[in-house]
Amino acid sequence: MKIARISVYQKDLPLADPYWLSGGRLKFEVLDATFVKLETDSGLVGWGEGTPWGHTYVPAHGPGIRAGIETMAKAVLGLDPRKVELVERSMDLCLPGHLYAKAPIDLACWDISGKAFGLPIADLLGGRRETGTPAASSVSSGDPDYMLGIINQYRELGYYAHSAKVGGSDVERDIARIRHLEANRRPDEIILYDVNRAWTRREANIVMNAVADLGVTFEQPGETLDDIAEIRKVTTSPISVDESLVTLQDACRIAREGIADIFGIKLNRVGGLTKARRIRDVGVAHGIQMFVMATGGSVMADTEAAHLAQTVPQEFIRASWSCQDMLTVDVAPGNGCRCINGLMTAGEEPGLGCDPDENILGDPVAIYQ
Ligand code: MG
Repeated sequence: MKIARISVYQKDLPLADPYWLSGGRLKFEVLDATFVKLETDSGLVGWGEGTPWGHTYVPAHGPGIRAGIETMAKAVLGLDPRKVELVERSMDLCLPGHLYAKAPIDLACWDISGKAFGLPIADLLGGRRETGTPAASSVSSGDPDYMLGIINQYRELGYYAHSAKVGGSDVERDIARIRHLEANRRPDEIILYDVNRAWTRREANIVMNAVADLGVTFEQPGETLDDIAEIRKVTTSPISVDESLVTLQDACRIAREGIADIFGIKLNRVGGLTKARRIRDVGVAHGIQMFVMATGGSVMADTEAAHLAQTVPQEFIRASWSCQDMLTVDVAPGNGCRCINGLMTAGEEPGLGCDPDENILGDPVAIYQ
């Protein structure tokens, strides 16, 4: 089996409401999504999505994915998509780094592999847990009552995990946000306080120690792994790392040096499922729990993450995400993984189980063959 054609689609995915990160420093209103269709000489077709969270969140942007695919297309055409590590190697030799541009191709190869072997991706990865994964909401930064209002909206949809975005330079305001949300947290709820790199070491020290009695978990409380390693020395709260977890080497360093208790694995940031599963294994081997999710995007991106999340042992998985619930566009009506009773559960169909409606995607912006 060989990859015979690569079709690339661009689609804007508007957010239902404006969204602020880092305590209000960064604003997002629309996501620039790239969808990739791989067609094989056997007739099997696979899909993958790459949707960065805008271009100010991490070093990734929509045009970069499409330019990367243009560069890598010749290295991918003619390969057997079931041999995911050979495809990975070919992309890495053709274009070092740029992991986020490789993810949609890698994910489409896994979709084809599942269809070829008659297994959903979760089972192809080794087998799924029986239960789905809690879906975490993503709670935009704002005043404490505004943030609690968003959590209440998600509660009505069945969510019991939440990622609340903090990280303002006004440390007293962040302390107020955290205390207010914790005071109103239900006993069965998980709330992660996501700083998205916004704090300096000093600000992290002040806020995390001021709420140390609450025992809450903070995500990416500093810009770099070096910053977080230093923050770790002067604080006691559990720490999750996501933006600074890009490569397998990052995962090994975090585990070896004890920089964090939790990995935030985002499939597109780390380069797709082939690379993400290795980071998962490092986590399991070192007693590190995980959030597994997309960087953003449609039901397809959520479904990709749901498959990997469901292979993580129960005691290691914290939550996944249903970014689709923040969008005004659904590219795959009637299929893919949806948040039901607060859980994301991978389907039983072979492969990804989420083919988009091509009429919604429009014409391809590029075809390589
Ligand atoms: Mg995060």
